[in-house]
Amino acid sequence: MPSSTEEPTPPEGLPDRLAAELGEASPEELRTAIVHARELLRFQEERELPIEPEPGEDVVRVIEHEGYTEVVKRHRCEEGCEECPHGPYLYHVTEEPQPDGEPKVHWSFIGEVNADGD
Ligand SMILES: [Zn+2]
Repeated sequence: MPSSTEEPTPPEGLPDRLAAELGEASPEELRTAIVHARELLRFQEERELPIEPEPGEDVVRVIEHEGYTEVVKRHRCEEGCEECPHGPYLYHVTEEPQPDGEPKVHWSFIGEVNADGD
């Protein structure tokens, strides 16, 4: 058991500059830092769009734009289709705020794009 006069060792993965800053902070500053860290964490988690490919889909590319995310995907059918894979198809993915606060991800189908892109 470490005594209370002993300073705790910063956890692995915490950058030195942050550990140094926190080590010198007052209890009030530390409490504020925790609140702010939680807010930042929530903000960053909300920004991550679920662009995981669904079964039968290949994500060709994902490009972040101001206000939307550009996603190009190929689609695969069940076995037996001679034209597979289809596409690639371009989608614009946006987040629409809902009244309950949970953002809803909206996929807008733009059209078929050149397989080689650009
Ligand atoms: Zn097909």
